[in-house]
Amino acid sequence: MSSTLTKEQWTERAGRPVSRTKLWIGGSFVDAASGKTFDSVNPRDGGLIARVAEGDAADVDRAVAAARRCFDSGAWSEMAPLDRKNVMLRWAALIREHAEELAILETMNCGKPISDSLNVDVASCANNVQWYAETIDKLYGEVAPVPRDSIAIIEREPMGVVGAVVPWNYPLIITSWKVGAALAAGNSVVLKPAEQSPLSALLFAELGAQAGLPDGALNVVTGFGPTAGAALGRHMDVNKLAFTGSTEVGKYFLKYAAESNAKAVSLELGGKTPHLVLDDCPDLAAAASAIAWGVFYNAGQTCHAGTRVLVDSRVEDELLERVRDVSRSIMPGDTYDPSTAMGTIVDRTQFDRINEYIKVGRDEGAKLHTGGEPVEPVKGGVFIPPTIFQGVTPGMRIEREEIFGPVLASVRVDGVEEAVRVANDTQYGLGAAVWTRDVSRAHRIARQLRAGTVWVNTFDRSSITTPFGGFKQSGTGRDRSLHSIEGYTNLKTTWIQL
Ligand code: ADP
Repeated sequence: MSSTLTKEQWTERAGRPVSRTKLWIGGSFVDAASGKTFDSVNPRDGGLIARVAEGDAADVDRAVAAARRCFDSGAWSEMAPLDRKNVMLRWAALIREHAEELAILETMNCGKPISDSLNVDVASCANNVQWYAETIDKLYGEVAPVPRDSIAIIEREPMGVVGAVVPWNYPLIITSWKVGAALAAGNSVVLKPAEQSPLSALLFAELGAQAGLPDGALNVVTGFGPTAGAALGRHMDVNKLAFTGSTEVGKYFLKYAAESNAKAVSLELGGKTPHLVLDDCPDLAAAASAIAWGVFYNAGQTCHAGTRVLVDSRVEDELLERVRDVSRSIMPGDTYDPSTAMGTIVDRTQFDRINEYIKVGRDEGAKLHTGGEPVEPVKGGVFIPPTIFQGVTPGMRIEREEIFGPVLASVRVDGVEEAVRVANDTQYGLGAAVWTRDVSRAHRIARQLRAGTVWVNTFDRSSITTPFGGFKQSGTGRDRSLHSIEGYTNLKTTWIQL
């Protein structure tokens, strides 16, 4: 997907009124029951984008009821697999047709560079919907090896109503992972986008309806976490809750489930991904490029961002110089300019939080190697440039805590054993990377690392075909791949006496 639009044309697009600002329930746009709205603000310049319906518990009730009606009617859950697949394939095509509209909404809400929104976020969203569509008529049940007097059939059934609560860092991508898998499995869905990024979800849902999703199959309740999000988590008629966000809020969903109907919960949470750069790193230039892009892409607002470099003391200086060189081509710029590689932080709260962490790093005695001071390529915007701390020691807060910004911490290590120990000494376990030319060493270390994905001599390569999720407090359950379907289905055994 590539755009021929110029910065001026994107700026003109951004100035057009936003037409979808209400809740999407039962196939229609409706106001919040309370009539309330909240301001959707553009982090590029602090300007108001639109006033968006502020859904709360009453709206979640309406949305869940619509989803339940759709599920029970069989309009989606019992549609023939081939037909269901074709609806989702049409949806993927419509997402591609509306790529520019979706991309500018994503950029205005999240502060992403427009080229990323278009070429990464919207393109992946369409591919993900297409991929899940293709699974629908290809997943078979099983016949179990039981005694000859019986037949036992094992099938996967949709769970019913799925709630999805998603964050603002990759709204369309994460939504398409969860909604794509849940709908492909035959469920109905109530989606609660983050309050920072409500807009793309509304167009995404409307395109689904145009493609042929029946009313109520997908509903969107925009609003805040502690109200709308919690109501979905606590709802007695939601069978499964899929969440991506912070570890702190993820734990609330376990509590909500325990205090309501013991619904299934899957969690994709925080991370503090380490790069282990060993003395035999085969290509420091390649490692530096992957490290820089892997922590500064999306302004570091990525759960598996490679925020820690655990580097052999013999190669540290050269590596950091090279990371700094690469980071010069990832400087913040106007999000509407197609040549911009880094946009803004998502909002002022997050901006203040990251700046506070930069102060903490200095106070803890780490050396600021690169960056550290906000910049303002667009007036009123919240931009932080690539920032690197050297001389970080294990246990410093900037080495332990998820900053969710463009901040890299370099920790000097001596030898593999120490590197692995520091890598694993974290509450998180989403990703890890190893840089070594010794293939046996790579395998040995990969086995020792407690993380959902281990990259070897590369970073951040991913595909809808591979599972994504964490060990430890990085979460439970997996997005992407056929394994994700398991999280949206119940196994049913039908035992027949012959
Ligand atoms: P981040 O730290 O990335 O902003 P959060 O975990 O705060 O992530 O938010 C992710 C999603 O969780 C958002 O949709 C947000 O509205 C929702 N959320 C935040 N707080 C709560 C809460 N107390 N209960 C339910 N959902 C919440």
